[in-house]
Amino acid sequence: MRKKVFLTRTLHGFALKELKKKYQIEVHKGKIPVPQSKLRSKIKDVDGLICFPYDKINKETIDLAENLKVISTYSVGFDHIDTKYAKEKKIRVGYTPEVLTDATADLAFSLLLDSLRRVSEGDKIIRDGKWKVIYGAHDYVGVDLQGKTLGILGLGRIGQTLAKRAKAFDMKVIYHNRSRISKTKEKSLGVKYVSFERLITQSDVISIHVPHTKETDKMFNMKVFKKMKDTAFLINTSRGKVVNEKDLIVALKKKIISGAGLDVFELEPISKSHPLTKLQNVVLAPHIGSSTKETRAKMAEITVKNLNLGMNGKKPIYSVGY
Ligand code: NAP
Repeated sequence: MRKKVFLTRTLHGFALKELKKKYQIEVHKGKIPVPQSKLRSKIKDVDGLICFPYDKINKETIDLAENLKVISTYSVGFDHIDTKYAKEKKIRVGYTPEVLTDATADLAFSLLLDSLRRVSEGDKIIRDGKWKVIYGAHDYVGVDLQGKTLGILGLGRIGQTLAKRAKAFDMKVIYHNRSRISKTKEKSLGVKYVSFERLITQSDVISIHVPHTKETDKMFNMKVFKKMKDTAFLINTSRGKVVNEKDLIVALKKKIISGAGLDVFELEPISKSHPLTKLQNVVLAPHIGSSTKETRAKMAEITVKNLNLGMNGKKPIYSVGY
C-alpha cells in the first residue's frame, strides 16, 4: 500500500504532482488553519505531514501519530512545532531556510523605507481624496536613511542580508545576537556588535530577525520602547509574538517611538478593526516576508524534498535537530 501524506493546505501544482507519484495524498480544503480536530484525526495514520507556520503541532498532536515519519513545514520558522518532542519520537522535521532569505530581507527593507518615507500613508491620502495642495515645505516629510543607525536583532541569514541592503543606503549597522559572529564576517558586512541595551538605545531603526522562542517571547515591551529613541522605528518581519503588541500600540499612540513597519502579528490574520489599523504611524503587511513567485516555488520544492527524505528514513536537506 502507498504511504499516506496529509497537507494542511494546497501547494504548487508541480509539488502536488511530485507527491502524487509516490504517495496517497490528501490536501485539506476549507477553513485555514485546518481545525485542530481534523489535524489530529489525520495525523493518526499518515506517514508524512506537510504543514504551514500557523499549524500548531504540539506534543498532544504528535502523541496521536502512529506511523508519522516526517513533518515538513513550508517555512523557515518552526516555533509552531514541538521539535524537541518530535525528535524524542524519532520524527524528522524539515524546514525551508536560505531560499527565502533574500525575499524576507527585501520585505524588511521595504517596510523600513516605507515607514521612514511614508509611502503607504501617502497612497492612502490620495485614495481618500485628501491630497489637496501640492509640495509644501513641511508636507508629508519623512526621515533620511543615510547616516542613520540600523540595529539588527538577530544577525543570522536574514539579518545579514538586510545589513547589506542597509549599507548600500549608507546606514550604520549595529547588531545583537547571543553570540558574536566572526570579526572577519563583521568586517566584510561592516557591522558592529553591541549589547541588547545599546542596540535599543542607539538605533534609529530596529529590525527584528530572531526566531520566536521562550527567550524572545515579548522581548519588545513597554520597558524596551521607553528606552528606545522617541524618533526610532521598529520593523518586525520575524514573528508577532516577539513583540508585546498591546505595549507597541500604546508606544505608537503616545509617540514613545516614532513608527513601525510590521509583517507579523500576535494573532494572524488581523482584521480591519484591529487597533493597529487605526494608527497613521504604522505600515502593515499581511505576513508576506517570503512571498515572491520565485521564493514560494523554491520553498515548495524544498518542502517536497525534505518530506521525501524523511519518508525514506533519511535526514531532510534542512532538518531541525534530527
Ligand atoms: P537564523 O539564520 O537562524 O537567524 C536567527 C538569528 O537570531 C541568529 O543570528 C541568532 O544568533 C539570533 N538569536 C536567536 N535567539 C536569540 C536571542 N534570544 N537573542 C538574540 N539573538 C538571538 O534565522 P533566519 O533564517 O534569519 O530567520 C529568522 C526568523 O525570521 C525565522 O525564525 C522566522 O520566524 C522569521 N521569518 C519570517 C518570515 C516572514 O514571512 N515574515 C520569513 C522568513 C523568516 P544567536 O544564536 O547567536 O543568538
